[in-house]
Amino acid sequence: MEQNYHLETLAIHAGQEPDPTTGAIMTPIYQTSTFVQTEPGINQGYEYSRSGNPTRAALEALIAALEGGKYGLAFASGLASMDTLMRLLNPGDHVIVGSDVYGGTYRLFERVLARFGLTFSWVDTSDLNAVKAALRPETKMVWLETPTNPLMSLADIRAIRDLTPANVIITVDNTFASPALQQPLLLGADVVMHSSTKYLGGHSDVVGGLLAFKDDGLYEQVKFLQNAVGAVAGPMDSFLVMRGIKTLSVRMERHSQNGLKIAQFLEDHAAVKRVLYPGLESHPQHDLARRQMKDYGGMVSILLESPEAAQRMVSRTKLFALAESLGGVESLIEHPYSMTHASTASSPIAVPPELVRLSVGIEHIDDLIADVRQALP
Ligand SMILES: *Cc1c(COP(=O)(O)O)cnc(C)c1O
Repeated sequence: MEQNYHLETLAIHAGQEPDPTTGAIMTPIYQTSTFVQTEPGINQGYEYSRSGNPTRAALEALIAALEGGKYGLAFASGLASMDTLMRLLNPGDHVIVGSDVYGGTYRLFERVLARFGLTFSWVDTSDLNAVKAALRPETKMVWLETPTNPLMSLADIRAIRDLTPANVIITVDNTFASPALQQPLLLGADVVMHSSTKYLGGHSDVVGGLLAFKDDGLYEQVKFLQNAVGAVAGPMDSFLVMRGIKTLSVRMERHSQNGLKIAQFLEDHAAVKRVLYPGLESHPQHDLARRQMKDYGGMVSILLESPEAAQRMVSRTKLFALAESLGGVESLIEHPYSMTHASTASSPIAVPPELVRLSVGIEHIDDLIADVRQALP
């Protein structure tokens, strides 16, 4: 697909040609484990679906195009993609990670991968000096989330690339922004990671993970690992993520509009101590957000007076369903301290118990504001 199409067009067409034999406009779900060979080693590009599957290949080409990269790889979940990527590293290697990240990232890194000899420094990646100070000769990767889950702070991707030696891989978990709002490869990152369970899938009906690359060598190594480790995305799941991505641009536009309006409403509410949303002028990194992001998305976090007030609010909303996950068309609300980030309790990256996180959906804004209003005292 020609790279000079806009993202809105790529989201619908990249990686996806009408089926040459039937004309089907949607990529078929190639629900098959194996592919017939005419002679040993002579095939039509596919041998076995762990190594490669045409439906998955279409999704992989699509995410590469959306992120402005050259290659994509699709996995069974966001965490499966992270686990596979981290197998690039060797015992003794050091990784700098943001000190506010998805709880499952902390659990995978400290409770699983640390046993294999990787070491992690948990650093406030909104502070360039802190990132610089954490670099060691054995540092092999910097893992950034921006905006972060759940405190909505930003990391300056280009500035961190500039202060980091070229041999250190910079990975950005782009789940919160999606490529519609932010394209980290174009800002100097080496790898982009997604939980496609969230905004890319967009309809809360599939679990998946994606990686995007611009460098041939790095892609070849991780492609080898994808087949060797085996945590691949199935054909049906790949189809669902592709179908979701077709409407990514219009969904992100509405998520961003509704997110900003909810954030402004909450900022004016007496029961809310603080609103964390990069689109607000009160956000300490609003200028960076304006430079680095096209818009600010649907994730809004707030601090209430007390942990009890937070628990009360998440139990009282009616449209905002109390559930883990985010990024679907329907609005969700949760209490990170006891839900998504429970695995970080009493760790250096624990989240405040008075925090509430909202994933603002694309319902009518008046209904959403009314629901939040009735849930607050
Ligand atoms: C959900 C999430 C993940 C993990 O992805 P799964 O698909 O649940 O395995 C990673 N990073 C962020 C920011 C997430 O929100």
